[in-house]
Amino acid sequence: MPSTLCKCGKEAFYFRRQSGEALCRRCFARSIERTVHRTVKREKLFTPDDRVMIALSGGKDSVALAHILSKIEKPYRTKLFALTIDEGVSGYREEGISITRGVAEALGMEHHIVTFKEEYGHSLEEVYALSREHGTGLLGCTFCGIMRRRLLNDMAIRLGATKVATGHNLDDEAQTFLINILRGDVARLGRAGVQPVKVREGFVPRVKPLRYIPEKEIAAYVYMKGYPLYERECPYVRDSVRDEVRDILNGIEERHPGTKHAIVNGSDKLMEALKPSTEAATVGTCSRCGSPSSRGVCRMCEVLDMLGLGSNTFINHLAE
Ligand SMILES: [Zn+2]
Ligand SMILES: [Zn+2]
Repeated sequence: MPSTLCKCGKEAFYFRRQSGEALCRRCFARSIERTVHRTVKREKLFTPDDRVMIALSGGKDSVALAHILSKIEKPYRTKLFALTIDEGVSGYREEGISITRGVAEALGMEHHIVTFKEEYGHSLEEVYALSREHGTGLLGCTFCGIMRRRLLNDMAIRLGATKVATGHNLDDEAQTFLINILRGDVARLGRAGVQPVKVREGFVPRVKPLRYIPEKEIAAYVYMKGYPLYERECPYVRDSVRDEVRDILNGIEERHPGTKHAIVNGSDKLMEALKPSTEAATVGTCSRCGSPSSRGVCRMCEVLDMLGLGSNTFINHLAE
């Protein structure tokens, strides 16, 4: 039987199986904040004059990220602000957006909200309808991912951010590693670290301060801090490989606590070894929109073609 008292003598709130620790509320929160702080310092994720844009979706990971970063960066000059992207999925996004407003207000954080509709002229729902009309065979999630990544980078440039912080947690990162292995995608394996391998022209570097925090602990932390949990799943989400990998990993973790940490730590070592070859890979620019891209025409322009929309619709608007 695990002890029900924290080492400080208080009643335990969380039992950490991979280390056998029982933690009270205060020690649990401090241990998470310390891990993030250590990650930020060790990996030098931020420099004192950075303007960090936090991708705040309203989901628990992004809420924890905003809360923890504003706490640990307080003594430094690092400027933090939040960006929320409203993809335009009625009946699903409103709740998340209202959570982001509350979080930013509670933290006294500058907050920007942008919509696919305003920035791209089409909401995700409209893009998905166009996609079906044109028989692209692509899932809503595919468009959403491409459009969201592009908008995140464009907004970072527009708002003068020098870094973008996302809420990817240990589970996401362990899953991504296994998915890349299953797909034999070595190029991606080399780019999946806590920070970008290399800063590319036109790309604002992305960092993942929560990379070593398990999803379960983030959920417990957000709950403990009294934030609302936004649990609804986007109706367009359908990633069968990721769902399978998540189940497999959770099963292994259950029987062998510490496996997710082992995978992510192993992935860090592998990245270090792959670094020279990843850095050598040249990155060109898209022949249509001029964005950095490893292929002749970027994914975004490719998707616009499929939807029967000229590059002008989206890209030029963004470049204004
Ligand atoms: Zn304690
Ligand atoms: Zn392009």
